Amino acid sequence: MTTVAAYAAPAAKAPLERTTIERREVGEFDVLIDIKFAGICHSDIHQAREGWGEAIFPMVPGHEIAGVVSEVGSGVTRFKVGDRVGVGCMVDSCRECENCKAGLEQYCLKGMIGTYNALDKNGEPTYGGYSEKIVVDENYTVRIPDGLSLDVAAPLLCAGITTYSPLRHWNAGPGKKVAVVGLGGLGHMAVKLAHAMGAEVTVLSQSLRKKEDGLKLGADHYYATSDPKTFEELRGTFDLIVSTVSAPLDFGAFLSLLKTDGALVNVGAPEEPISLNLFSVISGRKTLAGSGIGGIRETQEMLDFCAEHRIGAEIELIGASEINDAYERVLNSDVRYRFVIDAATI
Ligand code: NAP
Ligand code: ZN
Ligand code: ZN
Repeated sequence: MTTVAAYAAPAAKAPLERTTIERREVGEFDVLIDIKFAGICHSDIHQAREGWGEAIFPMVPGHEIAGVVSEVGSGVTRFKVGDRVGVGCMVDSCRECENCKAGLEQYCLKGMIGTYNALDKNGEPTYGGYSEKIVVDENYTVRIPDGLSLDVAAPLLCAGITTYSPLRHWNAGPGKKVAVVGLGGLGHMAVKLAHAMGAEVTVLSQSLRKKEDGLKLGADHYYATSDPKTFEELRGTFDLIVSTVSAPLDFGAFLSLLKTDGALVNVGAPEEPISLNLFSVISGRKTLAGSGIGGIRETQEMLDFCAEHRIGAEIELIGASEINDAYERVLNSDVRYRFVIDAATI
């Protein structure tokens, strides 16, 4: 065991504070990663506040991890000391079920093991990226291509893959009209990625406050959802809508913006359920779907795509002592567009 510094929430809703945690010995197939940067995902806040239900404390959040390999186990073949690597939302899964075999480890039928707020195969709690070092099985570690700086690459490990995967699955590309709801951490990545894939991109944000940014990120159009005229004007427009909103939303209103056979894919994970009048999908043979992060293979594909298209996150780099303030700003939709913790300050 190695003792490392970390930032942890000691209890639900309690502010995060500096502490130490134990990392396991580097096993045969493990890599030890010196964490350089860790992104702050809204999911960190949902979990640290028990918004999704009972959680494990103390909690060290963080599943957008970028760092450098500093030690490898004797059986490791894919990485060597000095490699630039990333770890996302999961650190293990059963590896045997049909989803694991298909590269959809995030949908492991026995349940994937989260990077934090989970128990590993030995029943020990997992601790995430707001820490100096992490030990991860090489099969759940991805390579960060040379063209990407580690700070702007960190958010790709969750915000990037969570938006890349549905954009690919629902064929965002030339000739397709794609709308992104919510311009936060996930939303701004969705705009960059959909634009790079060649789609015509529209941002649907609560207000026009971030319009200039949205257009710079690659959006072709930008509308405020607080303006009822938006819903009249855009009725029947989109092939695909990706909602990244962290709060319950009127999905019926957004479904009305789809073309016939269009799909509204939700990746936001609000803490409360929604209700929906099902005529909003019956009329126009529409699909309402969800999508969760992405598998390991697809995460690597996304990183390679981002390197090729020179795509990183727009980040605000913070010291670890600013985590609690950053949480408040995320909750107020005041993030431009991802907070990233400089792990040297932990
Ligand atoms: P974020 O940075 O806070 O962005 C969410 C955006 O949603 C905000 O910037 C805001 O955009 C919009 N929004 C917030 N409250 C709203 C409200 N009441 N009504 C309408 N719009 C609202 O969060 P994030 O890190 O991108 O995460 C977004 C959600 O995705 C979270 O629930 C997170 O847990 C979830 N998530 C899911 C997965 C998955 O695998 N499916 C992975 C990662 C995260 P505007 O200001 O532009 O309106
Ligand atoms: Zn996340
Ligand atoms: Zn499995």
